[in-house]
Amino acid sequence: MTIELSILCIAILIIGWLWADRIKKQKRFYQEIQQVKVIHNEALEAERKRHELLLDGLSDALFLVDQQGLVCYANIAARKMFAERNVIGQSPQAVFPDARFIEAIHQCEHNKQPVVQRLVLPQQLSPLGARENRGVNAWLLDVAPLPPEAYPQAKLRVLLRDLTAEFQSEQVRKDFVANASHELRTPLAIIQGYLENLLEAGALRDQQQAARFLGIMSKHTDRVSRIVEDMLVISRLESGEAAALSIEPFEFFSCVQDVLERLEHLIVSQQAQVDFGGVERGLMITGDRFYWTQVLFNLIENALKQNPRPGLHVTVTATAQADGIHVDVADDGIGIPSSHLPFVFKRFYRVDQNHTNSSIKGTGLGLSIVKRAIEAHGGQISVSSTPGRETKFSILLPVDRTVMDQVG
Ligand code: ADP
Repeated sequence: MTIELSILCIAILIIGWLWADRIKKQKRFYQEIQQVKVIHNEALEAERKRHELLLDGLSDALFLVDQQGLVCYANIAARKMFAERNVIGQSPQAVFPDARFIEAIHQCEHNKQPVVQRLVLPQQLSPLGARENRGVNAWLLDVAPLPPEAYPQAKLRVLLRDLTAEFQSEQVRKDFVANASHELRTPLAIIQGYLENLLEAGALRDQQQAARFLGIMSKHTDRVSRIVEDMLVISRLESGEAAALSIEPFEFFSCVQDVLERLEHLIVSQQAQVDFGGVERGLMITGDRFYWTQVLFNLIENALKQNPRPGLHVTVTATAQADGIHVDVADDGIGIPSSHLPFVFKRFYRVDQNHTNSSIKGTGLGLSIVKRAIEAHGGQISVSSTPGRETKFSILLPVDRTVMDQVG
């Protein structure tokens, strides 16, 4: 009996020990599973963060739309775009201001195919809204479905790229071509008209008239070649601006002298006075002498051209100051009415005929060449005018782009 009881006790003890061991093992097993889960979640979180960092590195705005059709993710560029409001959890209709965005999303959902479109939107309908004062905004909209395994929550992505800068420069180029063709068409049509007259039977026999026609044709041919020359200079300056320059130090005073020599005939014939005593002797500029000559030539020639009456005073000054080199070209002529001042640097802009004499030659490109050339040197130009008293073009060339080597 005692033996049997002992065996039973031992058996109970063994079973108890085995049971306790099993529970312990089970507990350890669950702990290990928990640990694996934590490690796995941490790895997932790190992976998610890495993906987000990658997507935040995109300069394009990226949105993800989930199975319920709500925005479930927006990268930094997208969040910046809608800085004022939270887009997460919103429907695309609530997020995107123009119906064309929604149409593209629906089309992509329906056809399960990417949709790529270029949109030009008035500012208020653009995602950037009134924050950007750029008239219209141009966007590349790229919507594509996502496979379920790519991102468990999202069914499609919407990518937005701001193309406004490219759109605007394309627009400027188109305007330039349109304006240039228009400006060239007028003199060419005149030349063609006179040529037709000359080719008429017997027209060449009247030598006096033929000579007059040829004179007019020659004047308009000059205009065509000046426009073409100016356009070439502008396009050279625009094709990489600074790269188009050949930068070397040169003495500014001698550049002024060269320009005045080239304009001497006009200065003498108009009995004008050009005072360049305010140009510091020995002042050196590091830049492209060809363009600086063109800048001074255009500014001084403009002053003379716009004021053919005798007795015009033109003053040229150039001084080295703490913030850089200041170059001013001023005249006391007819001036530029204030309503025209903001536009005179635009291509083909000429102040209207009641201000300028219609016989004054010009392409309307001179000042835009001046501005481009100064900007290509890292400088700025501005104009002020009190008609009849002083019209002044002021150039500032910042100190770091210049060598201010005062000799003598
Ligand atoms: P243009 O070839 O007609 O001279 P610009 O671009 O050089 O073209 O100048 C644009 C317009 O600015 C000129 O048509 C002229 O009306 C005006 N302008 C420029 N400089 C002067 C000046 N010194 N005095 C008066 N008007 C000027």
